[in-house]
Amino acid sequence: MKQFLNTTHDPSLKSWVASANHPEAEFPIQNLPFSVFRRHQRDESFRGGVAIGDQVLDMRVACNSGIFTGLAAEAAVAAGQDKLNALMALGAPAWSALRRALSDALAEGSPAQSILSQCLVPTSEVEFDVPARIGGYTDFYTSIHHATNLGRQFRPDNPLLPNFKWIPIGYHGRTSSIGISGESITRPLGQVMLPGEDTPTVVPSRCLDMELELGIFIGPGSRRGEPVAIGEAEQQLFGLCLLNDWSTRDVQRWEYQPLGPFLAKNFASTISPWIVTMEALAPFRVPYTRSGEDPAPLPYLDSPENRQRGLLDIKMQADLMTPSMHAAGLAPETLCVTSYRHAYWTPAQLVAHHTMNGCNLQPGDMLGSGTMSGPGTGESAALIEITGGAKNPVALPSGESRTWLEDGDTVILRAWCERPGSVRIGFGACSGTILPSRPHAF
Ligand code: CA
Repeated sequence: MKQFLNTTHDPSLKSWVASANHPEAEFPIQNLPFSVFRRHQRDESFRGGVAIGDQVLDMRVACNSGIFTGLAAEAAVAAGQDKLNALMALGAPAWSALRRALSDALAEGSPAQSILSQCLVPTSEVEFDVPARIGGYTDFYTSIHHATNLGRQFRPDNPLLPNFKWIPIGYHGRTSSIGISGESITRPLGQVMLPGEDTPTVVPSRCLDMELELGIFIGPGSRRGEPVAIGEAEQQLFGLCLLNDWSTRDVQRWEYQPLGPFLAKNFASTISPWIVTMEALAPFRVPYTRSGEDPAPLPYLDSPENRQRGLLDIKMQADLMTPSMHAAGLAPETLCVTSYRHAYWTPAQLVAHHTMNGCNLQPGDMLGSGTMSGPGTGESAALIEITGGAKNPVALPSGESRTWLEDGDTVILRAWCERPGSVRIGFGACSGTILPSRPHAF
């Protein structure tokens, strides 16, 4: 593992931005994630920023400060744009050069402090936008625990289909409805088949659920007709964000056969504003293993590097806040805590599989990890699993219970990495609030 780490991961590194040095800080100098932002309630355009402690480094201003040179300067200009596609397109050497330059410039004792301190905006004063023009969004299904638990709800006799252990299963999602943390989601209408009925009806969904996932942003992209070999796939990965793949289970149950998810998924997906880069995540890599009963991946999905460090131990959590809990001053209730290490397929395998037929990836494309349920109690990452298929509602500290999300509920996703010998890094939050359905006449 050590050969993948460099001075930017040094746990003794501190920043002249004091808030970045707090042991609980999500954005220490070892993290340096990217977003696009503007100061709220100002007539400003969005531009790229880097998180450091409780501040955002305005890259549109910083890139003209004269402190970046060579490849890092080129990357800094790209990082200041209103979307990060140009930065993603530059590739790993440029990302790495910029990270090294930012780390040096933001470190304690750096002569760049006097210049860059003029380029900081308090995070409390900003709002964010979706950080890339997402041309393609593919949602995978990489937790075998989620696939088995969900399969049990829809097909009790045959929960895990035989292709799961051979193919990273996925479907093409919708990009127009991807929004940023803090947004509100209007309860969607849908066509459902109610229990005991033989004719479907249109209702506001009664089974609105969340899914705790990670989004994987693609970097340089690939040419159509040219598969990305698994040995090259890591070079395609720019970074990760949180992703809530809102889902209407009543709609899903009626529509999903034979072609899979459609209106049950495409009304809204919410992502976190910060993209944590693969280089920042390097200390938290873990081996990819298969149990002895499971088939080895086919050769195009297998490599020594993927086996040694293909997975990432990213802790992931989903919390729920209801209006009554908020009114009573209660803290959000944790629905689950899991880890991305439970994925059955690695990000590199997703890229290799996605492109094996010549399908090309583009800078800013996003892959969803799939609902990242783990094997244990409290590790189920969607309400349909947590409640055992709506049989066991979640009891809340307000005395309420929830089977599905109700109007006014807020779901807050979080993720972080920690291990001995490394500085903890966080992803920030990804929240969304349910609004009542629109008036309808069906
Ligand atoms: Ca999903």
